Amino acid sequence: MKYSVCMFAAAVAASALFFGCSKSDSNKDILSSAKDAVSDAATAVKDTAAAAADKTAEVATAAKDKAAEAVEAVKDAGAAAAGAVAGAVAGAAAAVAPKEGTIRMITEATFPPYEFRQGKEVVGIDVEICKAIAKALGKELAIEDVEFDSVLPSLIAGKAELAAAGITVTEDRKMQVDFSVPYVRTGIVFVYAKATPFEKGEQAKGKKVGVQNGTTSADYVREKLGQEPEMFDSPASAFAALKAGKVDVVIADIDPAKAVIKGQDGYDISDLLTVEEYAVAIKKGQPELLATVNKVINGLKDSGELDKITDDMTAKANAMAAAEEAKPAEAPKAE
Ligand code: GLN
Repeated sequence: MKYSVCMFAAAVAASALFFGCSKSDSNKDILSSAKDAVSDAATAVKDTAAAAADKTAEVATAAKDKAAEAVEAVKDAGAAAAGAVAGAVAGAAAAVAPKEGTIRMITEATFPPYEFRQGKEVVGIDVEICKAIAKALGKELAIEDVEFDSVLPSLIAGKAELAAAGITVTEDRKMQVDFSVPYVRTGIVFVYAKATPFEKGEQAKGKKVGVQNGTTSADYVREKLGQEPEMFDSPASAFAALKAGKVDVVIADIDPAKAVIKGQDGYDISDLLTVEEYAVAIKKGQPELLATVNKVINGLKDSGELDKITDDMTAKANAMAAAEEAKPAEAPKAE
């Protein structure tokens, strides 16, 4: 830019000299008209530069304004997120210290084979992992069972020390809690009636999609399908709604999805729609507890114990599903 302006000025000056000569004016005149031309050119250069500077300033100001707007937007989003978490935490019951010699796990026991009820007892893969953590700490495990969307707020509010509920590690959740190393790689699937199969995400657009409240399946419906899901309190109640024709399809984590369709001839599941990992969550800022939790999980993985626990609990959940199936169907519970 600067270069071309200078070339222009030089050309103006040169042509002034040339024309001056060809008109055979006096030397003085030639010199003076050349001087004028050079001074005009210099002014042009100055003006162009000033205009360019103005433009640059304008652009810079606009960029600054945009940046300030962006900063404000980020600030607002941060405040909204922090507010939402603070609200949820305040909504959860006040912190109570655990009983002497115990460590509490908070979960949501409708998620076989990770956590489910066998009679009154909560059992599952997550329970076994937390029992091993409790043992490493020389403590007994106590279990708190709440709705899935209260699990993390309750942990943050100090109602429990460990949260394990087939919790997918997500960027949003990482801002609220600390996660252990993951202990399983999994994801979500469609659960559908074989008469109307769903394999691709887009097929569910505009359909009534049932999900469990507060889950990554709910996020999927909002973010990938751009619509509001139908909310249920468990994968099983979402499935009951599918059977009753109240929703067109259900999205749930693959293992509980397999559990709900066990022995149900007319239903099937799709391939994975996402890849997710489960981990144990603890309240932020406890490096020692996190190190212990990670050591225990890595130990269970390396020794093959985790695979054994998974097989045992899957068999147990399947046996329970078979027993459930023998019972008359329950009415679906939508929220
Ligand atoms: N993995 C899913 C999530 O974290 C669902 C977990 C659950 O329903 N227990 O959102």
